[in-house]
This record gives sequence, structure tokens and C-alpha cells, in this order.
Amino acid sequence: MSQTPSLSRPIPLVDLKAQRDTIRDELATAIDGVINRCDFILGEDLMKFEEEFASFCGVPDAIGVANGTDALHLACRAIGIEAGDEVIMPAMTFVATALAVSQAGGRPILVDVREEDALIDPAKVEAAITSRTRAIMPVHLFGQCADMTALSEIAQRHGLRIIEDAAQAHGAHHNSTPAGAIGDIACFSFYPGKNLGAYGDGGAITTRDHDMAQRIRLLRNWGSVKKYHHEEVGLNSRLDTLQAAILRVKLRHLSRWNQARQRIARSFDESLSKISGITRTRYDSGCVYHLYVIRVDRRDDVLARLNRQGIGAGIHYPFAVHELGAYQWLGYQPGDFPVAEGWARSCLSLPIYAELSDDDVERILASVEDALAVQAAQ
Ligand SMILES: *Cc1c(COP(=O)(O)O)cnc(C)c1O
Repeated sequence: MSQTPSLSRPIPLVDLKAQRDTIRDELATAIDGVINRCDFILGEDLMKFEEEFASFCGVPDAIGVANGTDALHLACRAIGIEAGDEVIMPAMTFVATALAVSQAGGRPILVDVREEDALIDPAKVEAAITSRTRAIMPVHLFGQCADMTALSEIAQRHGLRIIEDAAQAHGAHHNSTPAGAIGDIACFSFYPGKNLGAYGDGGAITTRDHDMAQRIRLLRNWGSVKKYHHEEVGLNSRLDTLQAAILRVKLRHLSRWNQARQRIARSFDESLSKISGITRTRYDSGCVYHLYVIRVDRRDDVLARLNRQGIGAGIHYPFAVHELGAYQWLGYQPGDFPVAEGWARSCLSLPIYAELSDDDVERILASVEDALAVQAAQ
């Protein structure tokens, strides 16, 4: 093998320290500002971040909440999901998409994904609609928008709401509309490793519906309109002012970081198309590459070989939702969502982030080539 792992610096799946080094002074000033004001809860930087993030997404309202899972849960509550209501979602997603619906008392209804991009397959949505269906919750997986044109058309025809799970898609576009401005309501996560990540948990909801936004502002703050006047059974789910201050700094760099991811993805595309044994994901031009995912046979062997060479590849995700212990109660069987199951067995995420150097990209590609050559020889 051409690599000498012990001499090469490991390349992690995501390198938040490298990112920090590029914004160190801005961060220090921002954090100091919050601590000087001591407005830790619902403070000035939260209000400003909400305005700036709303404008970034092209909507009038953004509401900062404690994490992406709460964002999805509150969005379900805001559109009126109640016990027994059904919400249609892809079988290939992070568990939080389903958790948010079940926490609101609803039932996740799974639909298979598309072979080429792991996004919810609009052609399979209509068959899943019943009299209890209230909403469709597409997931903009890997940083790429679901087929919102087809889904909006179906939603309109059946009187359903659309909740975007945009947790991986800060800055992504569908045609020319930003993620977060396409459905009735959209949810973002600022988990540290996301394209826009806090230094802890964080999330946001965006919407064009001002009344819904006001209701969420109340729900996230113990259901109170005014101190000690609790009008609804709300929750404590606010985005910390300190996290908002950090996110304001990072938001100023996000478009540049996303462009760097797009450039790296183009290099990956070009080189990986020449290596046999790889199925590349179809990504559109509005994608912000939260994850660069390929599919390979005997994935776990390939992953182990990459990891041994210091390449921090990962798996997103090893199980489809109906395969998880938590969702056996939905009553699905193995084989019900064959495309999602196939993705779970074969998907492999390569490191992708703005601070990767050209050398890093070359090393990742060489390691992938090596790993697959070993595979082919066996
Ligand atoms: C990260 C993520 C979430 C959950 O966000 P948290 O902030 O971790 O609660 C939900 N859906 C998807 C698709 C995600 O990637």
C-alpha cells in the first residue's frame, strides 16, 4: 500500500478546531459581549441571530430553540399534530425526525427513499396518505433538498402541511429557494458538527407564518406570554444567548464555508468517477454537502481500512428507522423499505469541511482508491 499511516496526520470526519483557528478573535469578542451583558437567556445576541438567520433563509421569522429535535417537535405542535395524527417521513434519516413526531403524540409513517440520493421518494408518498395524515416531513439529507416541487404538489392536493427537516441543510437551495423557506415550517439543528454549528446544542425554526412563529415563541418559553402567565403547556427550549453569539460569528462565514465544501465535492466527484466499485450519490447544484456519501460493497471492511489510514470516514446511518429498537412498535417488517435498507448497509461518508487542504483531499482520494483496490484483489 502506498500510504504510511504513522507518518500522516489523521484527517477527522469534521475538524472544529481547525475552523475555530480561523475565527478565534471574532469568537472571543462575541463571547465576551454576552458575559459582559449577562443576558444569558433570551438576550440581545439571540434576538439579533434570529433576525440574521431569518434573513439568511429568506423568511420573516426564525425562532431559536434548544436543539434540532425540539425544533421538529415544536413544529409538530405548531401545526397542530395531536395524538394519533400521522406524519409521513423518509425511512432513511436520523432518529430525531421520528422522535419529534412521536413526542407530539403522532405516528411516524415511513416511506422509502430514492436509490440515487437517499431522499424521500415522492412517487411513494401518495400511497402512504390516510385520513389521519396531517403532514409530510421531508429530510434534506446530506445537505441536499428533497424534491420539494413534487412534495408541495402532493401536499396541496391532499391538504397536508410540510415540515422541512433542514437540520443538515443550512444554505442549501431547491431551485432558487433556500431550505427553510420552502415548506410551511422548517427546522434546523446547530449541533456542533452541522454546517452551521454551535459550541453545544442549538436549533431554530423558520416560517413565513407570523402567527405560528408567535405561538412557538410562547411554547419554547414555558408557554408564557408574560412572566408567570402560562397560557399553554410549553417547554423550556430556548437557544442560549452565548450559543447565538457564536452562531452570529459563524453565520457570517457560512456561505464561504459551504462554497468550499462544494469545491471539494467537485474534486471528489471527478476522481471517484474513475474508481470502480463506488456508487456515487446524485447531488444537485443547491447542495451544501453536509455529508459526502458514497456507497460500496462490504462497506465495513472499506471503512476499517480507511480508518486505519487515518481517514475519519463514518456511516450516516447504519440503520433505517424501522430497523431501530425504538420503532418496532410501528409494526414494519425487514424488507418493507428495501432502498433505505440498502443505503444503511452500503453508505460511507468521507471527511468534508472547508479547512481541508488540497493535500488532504488528495490523501482521502488515494486512501479510498487503495481501500477499493484491496477489496477488488480479495
Ligand atoms: C442533527 C439532526 C437532527 C437533530 O438535531 P439535534 O440538534 O441533534 O437535536 C434532526 N434531523 C436530522 C436529519 C439531523 O441530522
